[in-house]
Amino acid sequence: MTVAVTLEAVSCVFTSGGLAVKAVDRVDLTIEGGEFFTLLGPSGSGKTTCLRMIGGFVLPTAGRILIGGEDMTLLPPYARPVNTVFQDYALFPHMNIRDNVAYGLMVQGVGKAERHHRADEMLELVRLSGVGERRPGQLSGGQRQRVALARALINRPQVLLLDEPLGALDLKLREQMQTELKALQRQLGITFLFITHDQHEALSMSDRIGVFNNGRLEQVGTPQAVYNTPFTRFVADFVGSANVFDGERARQIAGADSVMLRPERIRLGAPQGARASGAVLDAQYFGSFSRVRVDWAGTSVAVDLNPQLLPELPCAGQTVHLHWDADAVHALRGVAA
Ligand code: ADP
Ligand code: MG
Repeated sequence: MTVAVTLEAVSCVFTSGGLAVKAVDRVDLTIEGGEFFTLLGPSGSGKTTCLRMIGGFVLPTAGRILIGGEDMTLLPPYARPVNTVFQDYALFPHMNIRDNVAYGLMVQGVGKAERHHRADEMLELVRLSGVGERRPGQLSGGQRQRVALARALINRPQVLLLDEPLGALDLKLREQMQTELKALQRQLGITFLFITHDQHEALSMSDRIGVFNNGRLEQVGTPQAVYNTPFTRFVADFVGSANVFDGERARQIAGADSVMLRPERIRLGAPQGARASGAVLDAQYFGSFSRVRVDWAGTSVAVDLNPQLLPELPCAGQTVHLHWDADAVHALRGVAA
């Protein structure tokens, strides 16, 4: 398999008002050709800066960036085989949709007839045939998003960079676009580098995820690996819900300094054989699951239950008994920071 993007000890320091901000801090990363790779992290963790360095819009303070095996650290954006889809779409309002999509070809000097033909093909690919004559203002948000995608793909870039492209869409549309984006990526075989702060989006779309925290990549792995075996407390907390126990409690459960137990791995059951017991603090119904919080000798433990199996939520104050399998407990490397 070919390597699409390599970051070697890449850092980016911004200076504003005399203060240095380490937006990206010595990041090493290899993204394989044809991979759907997601950078996941909270706002301000350095995701956009990382993407902009790969696109060539920001120069790293240190380190090297290779695309398709070639050092492109200092090349301008137009000289790189990558395109970017921005969150605000950045369509040209005065141009019709076909010309928006064909823009990259026009810049390359491709003739009008071929430009239009290829733009119409791209519009068909994103299921927008028939809107070529319209202006961006005459489309819905979801449609504009597809136009931005078609425009970025028309040059067949080696790598497509997508910076929270679905952030502005409502939930239903976002879920639909997630499925379509993934299918499109498979069909085209283009490497996608996708950014999001939404763990569900990252888990459901990606081949691999890189979790960003404070300018550093804390963990890189498949969705299953990141979710089931997080390295650190931060990753455990950020990707899904987690009960994290430290100190004496952790040593008691698993003989480690810090352990994680996912709420859905805990069951309520009989007093016999229970690993813990406590009073219910509160219970909430979420439709597909119910979350019960239990006070285990001063520590609140979240338990997710299948409402089908437990139609009546336990009441606050009721004593319940917690069960889990030994393999549900996962030791974390980092103790609470
Ligand atoms: P994310 O995309 O994960 O939200 P960013 O990469 O946009 O994070 O930002 C990372 C950090 O760098 C933040 O602290 C942000 O304020 C800072 N930052 C980003 N761009 C600039 C800039 N042009 N000048 C100064 N600081 C910046
Ligand atoms: Mg950002």
